[in-house]
Formats: sequence, C-alpha cells, structure tokens
Amino acid sequence: MSSQVASHRVGKKLVDVIFGASAACAEAVKEHGADKVTNATIGAIMGEDEKLACIPTMEKVFHQLPIADAIAYAPIAGLPGYLDTVIDLTFADNKPEGYLAAVATAGGTGAIHHAIVNYTEAGDQVLTSDWFWGTYNVLCQEQGRTLTTYQLFDENQNYNLKALAAKLEELFAKQDSLLLIINTPAHNPTGYSLSEADWTGVLDLCKKYAAEGKKVNLLVDIAYIDYAGEKNECRRFMKQFSNLPENIFTMFAFSMSKGYTMYGQRTGAIIGLSASKELVDEFVDVAKYSSRATWSNINRGAMAVLNAIQQDDELLAAFEAERESLYEIIRDRAAIFMKEAEECGLNALPYKAGFFLSIPAKDSKAVCDELHKDLIFAVPLKAGVRIAVCSVPKQKMYGMAAKVLKALKAV
Ligand code: PLP
Repeated sequence: MSSQVASHRVGKKLVDVIFGASAACAEAVKEHGADKVTNATIGAIMGEDEKLACIPTMEKVFHQLPIADAIAYAPIAGLPGYLDTVIDLTFADNKPEGYLAAVATAGGTGAIHHAIVNYTEAGDQVLTSDWFWGTYNVLCQEQGRTLTTYQLFDENQNYNLKALAAKLEELFAKQDSLLLIINTPAHNPTGYSLSEADWTGVLDLCKKYAAEGKKVNLLVDIAYIDYAGEKNECRRFMKQFSNLPENIFTMFAFSMSKGYTMYGQRTGAIIGLSASKELVDEFVDVAKYSSRATWSNINRGAMAVLNAIQQDDELLAAFEAERESLYEIIRDRAAIFMKEAEECGLNALPYKAGFFLSIPAKDSKAVCDELHKDLIFAVPLKAGVRIAVCSVPKQKMYGMAAKVLKALKAV
C-alpha cells in the first residue's frame, strides 16, 4: 500500500474500542428500541431520562456569557482569575504547603500531554497502573514515549504497593527520571480511590528514589474528583504533598469536562507544585511553551463560565447542589450493581466512586459479545469489562450484575 505521510507516521491509527461498542449499541437500539437496550459504554453522565445531563446553573451562565468573553483570545497561560480559582478548586481546604501555579490546557487530556512532553525524556517509559485510561498510551506514543504498567490490585483487591515498588525499582535502574500517572479519586475504569495510607506508601517510595538523586515526577489525574464524595474528604490526601524534596515534582490534571458537564468545551489546567519556586516558575515556562506550540490559547468562554460561577455565592451554591445531585445518582446506580454483585458472587473490582466500574475477564470481548444477547453494551478492555454507571439509569442497573456473571460463565 502506498503512503504519503512521513515515514515515522505510517500505520498510526486510533483504535477506539468505545466507539465500536457504542456503534453496536446504536444498532441494537434501532432493532429493539431504546427501552430494551442498556448502553453502559458512554463516558458522560446521562440523566435518568438517558439524555446527556447538563448542570443547569452552568447552562444559564454559559448562555448569558457576554459575546466578547466567548470570542476574544485568552492569554496563553489562561485567564488570571481562572488560574487562581482552579488551584482553589483542586485543593479546597487541603492545599499542600509549597509553591503552586496553574496553566490552562485543552481539558485534562491537554494537562496529561504537557506532563508527558515536559517531564519525560525521549524514549522514556511512563508508568501507570494496569487498569488505565487508554488515551494515556496514545499520548505517550505520540511523543515517542512508551507506557508501562504495574498491577493495580493485589490478590486481595488492595492497592498493590508491592507491585509499584518492584516496577519503580526496575525503571529507575534504567532511567534517571520518571513520570508516574495516578488517576484518583474515582479511577477510570475501576472506580477505585487511593486511600490516605495508599498515598503514604506511594510517596514513601517516591522519597526513596528522590533520596538516591532520581527525578520523580508525579501526575495526579483528578478528572473525576467532583464525583468522588465529600469535597474535603476526597481531597485530604493532597496535604501529603506538602514540602516534598525538590526532586519530586507534583502535577495535577484538572478538567472541566465532567465537573462542569462541559466535555466538548475542552477546558482544563495543569497545576504544578514544588517546594522550589524556581521549579514552579520553570513549570509555567515550559507548559506555556507547549500550549503555544499545540493549541495556542484555551477556550475563553469556558474559563469565563467557571469564573462567573465562582464569583457569585448564589450561583455557586446552586451549581454545587445541582452537581451533588448528579453525584448521588451515579453513586446510587453503582451501589445497585455492587450490592447485587456481592449477592450473586460476581468479582467486581473495589469501586469507591466515579463514572465506571470494572469486572476482570480473560476474554473481555467475548464477555461483551455475550452480554449483547441480553442487550447490554459495555466496553471490553484488555483486563476486563468496563461498565459506565454514569450512563445507565437506575432501573436498568437492576439485574445487570447477574447477567454479567452469566456472560462470564458462558465464555
Ligand atoms: N483522565 C481520565 C482518566 C479520563 O477518563 C478523562 C476523560 O475521559 C480525562 C482525564 C480527561 O478528559 P478531558 O480531556 O475531556 O478533560
């Protein structure tokens, strides 16, 4: 086959399993009607009416946006008010001690991109857990890095600190620096949230290698934090990042996609934290440079929406209450599944919160195909089946765990 693209781009093609699963689902809806079909593939909140949920206060503020706020360029780093607010929102009452700065990015994806570009060497291996959001892999590959993984859970379904330790040992034998990506709380795709003790263990390991002179870079992907429980409770671990050694650089990937139901507006931020002001200034410089070299500046309108909500106590109270009710819907849906899973003996991974839960499976594609017979559509991942509780109404959650168990036994 002939090719016109540059030689190093030949064969680059996005394999989108989620798209495949949702296309099969759309076919089933045509044939059987939406009432009969369960679409557990979508990574966005669908209300109990199965329509895309929108936080009403966000919608109101968005529609009332002065046109200049929507159309004018924003500074490359992001609107000043937005950047301060994003830092406050990220930590709430758990701001760690140290220097902090934020740079606006194209969603959380843009933040992950910036961390990979600027905090890994060409050819490096980037580390995350074996259950992970597939986009991490694409983002690494695009930059000439590879993604490698450690086992997220041990045999008792606890956070597998031993596996992390072994992998860090292996990688630091080859690399002088490392980027470790941890998606918590409310991890995609398992719904796990690292506990305070898990984090102490992770940071102790980071400190061990920092003491040996390695550069340890940590990216905490908090894309789902607004659906992870009480605001300060689910952010308490952040205090542990206070006054880390200078060669541990911590970053947070902030996203408006889920927290503001503004997925398509592509707005987020990367936040850098260090005991060294110099290193935080350097972080801002390189992140701004990467922004200029990729998307230039970020959606001003979305940043203005966040600012407007944050600056008005009444709007903020309404917004938070509305988002809380979405959180409660998702929590209740997952609780139905997890209760039934326990009752029927289905081995679901330890879900704490968030949009997704997962069930380990050797041949996840076959299990998903089997589920199609019950008109249930889920996403087959390498290590198992992902159920998007964010997109399935409560009434369709009942009985699903037993059907997944049946499908697992049939393959
Ligand atoms: N991180 C994880 C684990 C995600 O699942 C997502 C979105 O699906 C994101 C980050 C970032 O999303 P966005 O780029 O829309 O902010």
